Amino acid sequence: MSEIRRASKWEVQLSHSLGLLHLSSLRDRILAFAVLAALVPSLVTAVLAYDQNRRSMNTRIGEELRTAGNQAAREVGLWYQSRLFDIKVFASSYEITENLTRIDGDARVRAYLRSVMVRVEHLDELLVLDRQGGVVASNLEVPGAVFLPEDWAMDVWAGREVAGPPVRSSQGVTSVTMAVPIYRQGGGSVVGSLAARLRLDGLLEQLAPIAPSAGALSVLAADGAPVLRVVQSGAAELGQPIAQSDLLTLRADTGQVVSFRSPAGEQAMGTMRPVPLLSWLAVAEIGQERAFQQVRRLRNTTVGIVVAILIGVGFIGYRLGLLIVRPLDRLATGAANVAEGDLSVDLPVIGSGEVATLTEVFNDMVRRLREGRAQLNDVNATLQQKNEELERLSVTDQLTGLYNRRRLMEVLEAEVHRSKRHEHPFAVLIMDVDHFKKFNDAHGHLAGDRVLAGVAEVMRETTREIDTTARYGGEEFVAVLPETDLEAAVDVAERVRATLAARIFEGRRVTLSIGVAEFPRHGEGAQSLIAAADAALYQAKGAGRNRVVRAGAAA
Ligand code: GH3
Ligand code: MG
Ligand code: MG
Repeated sequence: MSEIRRASKWEVQLSHSLGLLHLSSLRDRILAFAVLAALVPSLVTAVLAYDQNRRSMNTRIGEELRTAGNQAAREVGLWYQSRLFDIKVFASSYEITENLTRIDGDARVRAYLRSVMVRVEHLDELLVLDRQGGVVASNLEVPGAVFLPEDWAMDVWAGREVAGPPVRSSQGVTSVTMAVPIYRQGGGSVVGSLAARLRLDGLLEQLAPIAPSAGALSVLAADGAPVLRVVQSGAAELGQPIAQSDLLTLRADTGQVVSFRSPAGEQAMGTMRPVPLLSWLAVAEIGQERAFQQVRRLRNTTVGIVVAILIGVGFIGYRLGLLIVRPLDRLATGAANVAEGDLSVDLPVIGSGEVATLTEVFNDMVRRLREGRAQLNDVNATLQQKNEELERLSVTDQLTGLYNRRRLMEVLEAEVHRSKRHEHPFAVLIMDVDHFKKFNDAHGHLAGDRVLAGVAEVMRETTREIDTTARYGGEEFVAVLPETDLEAAVDVAERVRATLAARIFEGRRVTLSIGVAEFPRHGEGAQSLIAAADAALYQAKGAGRNRVVRAGAAA
């Protein structure tokens, strides 16, 4: 016999805890285990993958912004440089330096300016200014306003070029005014300045293709006011100047991606690059919403994958649980049936392993129980048969097949009770073979036995089914006749006597003497009734035998 291992402490405690979590059934525990086993690694993997991807996405966005910012700053710088170069060339033209000092030079200068205007794109106006900033000549009939920094004249007379603030016209066109010194012919002192008002739409076209995808590119003035703003598809709304605090952050971390409120008014990630030669700033940005949209999509995909894994594993775990639990359920039900006494249980054995072995052992156990019970049933049946036989033998006289005295007395007692209850009479006959000793002596004991059997046969033939016939002892017999009064009983006795008297045994006639008594007339109980009949029998013997005598008759 194998040893059965006792439940260890941790087993009991863990089982109790799982029970508190409503995880008592094996199936639920397997399911929980499967989900946990899938959840932990997939969650860790997902979190790591998500983090990695988020970082690389941030890096990519940062790089894109930095590249766009750098390119934009360079483009704007180059654009400014080439415009400056053009204007310097015009300013040093003989047409201007020669004619500026002449009294009648104005018309010539204007004609020159007009000719230049035709050759240069995006030019709104060209003006020649004197040392006080007064307009000497313009290509326009009515010169426009000149927007230049406050101390521009000082710079220009010192030989430096200056650029004014960006100005937006009522038509929405932004322009900027640049001024360069005009030197006296042959070198030397500054005699005036050439100012040019340039539209920035050309620059806009150049910048659009380098704007970050899904983002925008802004050129800001030194104070944060937007000069230009493009997206990849072209010009965008200029928007609001960005806050000074944001400007400071952008300036502090040039080339780094920082979070700020963009000119469009939304929170954005952006980088800033100063434009060379100008006080302008190029800012590349992408809306925080847009930037995180990709990250969010990534997160949703990750969550989706984890959920799908959990559902898949949960389903497999559930089916696996069923696979394990079903045979156990069957075993439990089978055991319950057996406990209730149903031994017809025969469980299917599926596959191999512990549960299959257990099922086989269970089936074998039930089969043995079944066999045991069948054997027991056989034994019981035999025993019952034997008992019935014994019972019959215990109340039957062997020689005659009639009831014996013991049984007779039981029947008689019962009949006394019954008759008392129904207040109906019944009768008893008691009979004795006449001179039987002599017969025995003459023909032997066996012949005597045959006479006794003959008497029994006659008694059976001449009484009813409901009557009881018994051997009282030796050659004495009794008949109990229910629902029979004295006279009817005497008739029966006479019939018995006559029938036997008509028979021949060993060439002789054998006769009976019979006493008859009626209940309750001749006796109130079984014994007294028998005694009354016996007394009548005694009278019959005395009166010469072979006759029937009523109890209570005069001797
Ligand atoms: P009476 O007419 O007065 O009754 O005379 P009897 O000879 O019949 O009376 P008694 O009581 O003297 O004799 C009864 C005899 O019955 C004695 C006995 O040998 C015989 N007897 C009793 N039982 C059996 C039995 O089972 N078989 C045989 N063959 N004889 C029996
Ligand atoms: Mg006798
Ligand atoms: Mg006798």
